[in-house]
Amino acid sequence: MTVDLRSLVGIGAKLDTSFPAFFRHRRIGEKVLITNYEGNWLLLSDEEFGRFARGDVPTGTPLHTLLRDANFIRAEYDVQKAITRVRARKSFLHLGPNLHILVVTLRCNETCVYCHASRANMEAVHTDMSKETAERSIDFILRSTSPSVTIEFQGGEPLVNFEVVKHTIAYAIQKNESIGKQLEFTMVSNLSLMDEEKLGFLLQHKVQICTSIDGPEHLHDKQRKLPGFSSHKAATKWIARINEAYAEMGLDPTLYHVEALLTTTKETLPRWKEVVDTYVGLGCKALFLRPIDPFGFVEKTGARIEYPRSEYMEFYQQATDYMLELNKQGVQILERYAAIFLTKILAGEDPNFLDIRSPAARASASLPITTTARSSPATRGECSTRPVTTPSSSATCAPAATARSPATRRCARWSSPRNATASRTASTAPTTRIVVWRQCTATRRSAASGARCASARSAPYTRASRTICSASSLRRTRRR
Ligand code: SF4
Repeated sequence: MTVDLRSLVGIGAKLDTSFPAFFRHRRIGEKVLITNYEGNWLLLSDEEFGRFARGDVPTGTPLHTLLRDANFIRAEYDVQKAITRVRARKSFLHLGPNLHILVVTLRCNETCVYCHASRANMEAVHTDMSKETAERSIDFILRSTSPSVTIEFQGGEPLVNFEVVKHTIAYAIQKNESIGKQLEFTMVSNLSLMDEEKLGFLLQHKVQICTSIDGPEHLHDKQRKLPGFSSHKAATKWIARINEAYAEMGLDPTLYHVEALLTTTKETLPRWKEVVDTYVGLGCKALFLRPIDPFGFVEKTGARIEYPRSEYMEFYQQATDYMLELNKQGVQILERYAAIFLTKILAGEDPNFLDIRSPAARASASLPITTTARSSPATRGECSTRPVTTPSSSATCAPAATARSPATRRCARWSSPRNATASRTASTAPTTRIVVWRQCTATRRSAASGARCASARSAPYTRASRTICSASSLRRTRRR
């Protein structure tokens, strides 16, 4: 809610534009929130805000000190402090692309009502990436200026073209021996085509795996159709199996576990409790209450599955209130949007979640690569990644990739590592959670020497690879 500035300044009183430095303001409950470019913020009473806006804050008073330290006083504005803070918040800008998404096929054995990948039928083998294209893509990816590179396999369903996935991983590892980047692999899969052999390979190469769970089985299966079988059963079976395999490998289950994502449709809205309970029941430590996005299949199904955003906000509030209640009862479950925004606001850092960052991540942090050049990007609008994601004429940033990019950006921005840190605290009050997110941030700072982030799973994590840290913490958010 905006504030009637003049009513707070006082009837007849003048705004003193020479006293405050640039600020924004908004009412939060009984207080007025002020913020500035650097990300500093203060909650002031109406009386304090009025004095601030009138310039009626004597030097040496507690309010003056508070405002000065947060760089809200024009005459005492500390430019160097502001620069340092902005530089820290936007440090990811200097790294170059870290996340490289290989769309190894558009084929998929499931049909989801909201498919943002615009999947193709299983017969559409022409949408498969070839080994040669994958190699050229890796050659290009490893030329990134980022010291850390995450290669993420997406589709369609990447397990459909698993031979190319295997070949790509082997080639990237071999190629990187002389380059020495910190290399990480992730895969976004519906898991229904998983088998022990594939899993063995993925575990051997520490490929982090993400899937989707749309809530309870009946809802999930209705939205994510798998001919002849329950897609929910398939996903949950392999979530359990993979987590078990991690444990067998002696890996910390807090750091190593399959992440699952939710896509909120109209049918999801009244089922906020079932959704949360499903995630808790699966042993998930985090839940990302993501609204549906209007691209891919949603262009056709939107009338059936979309909803007014006000209804989503109601759903979000009910679900998060319930999660907080569970936290108080000792259940560890974290809502990711809340964690991202609270980290931005309270920890003074940008987690670099690609959908919610400024400037936009496209090309500067995330590059999708697909082989499908079925139509010219010019016929489908922009393709901002094309100039840098085209290692060869056969590996083209096709319109399909561009259309997918909002989803893929999400995908790679999330993993359990940092989430794990946050979720370790989820059983405590929200304020405690915030503190621990800040601790995580501090840990990452200390990782400048090259040590792993304490909260990182398999993402090696130097300060230079901070993008990864945030990316890792937010990885694999793409809906499947
Ligand atoms: S969302 Fe994923 S699993 Fe579902 S149809 Fe699309 S590509 Fe397949």
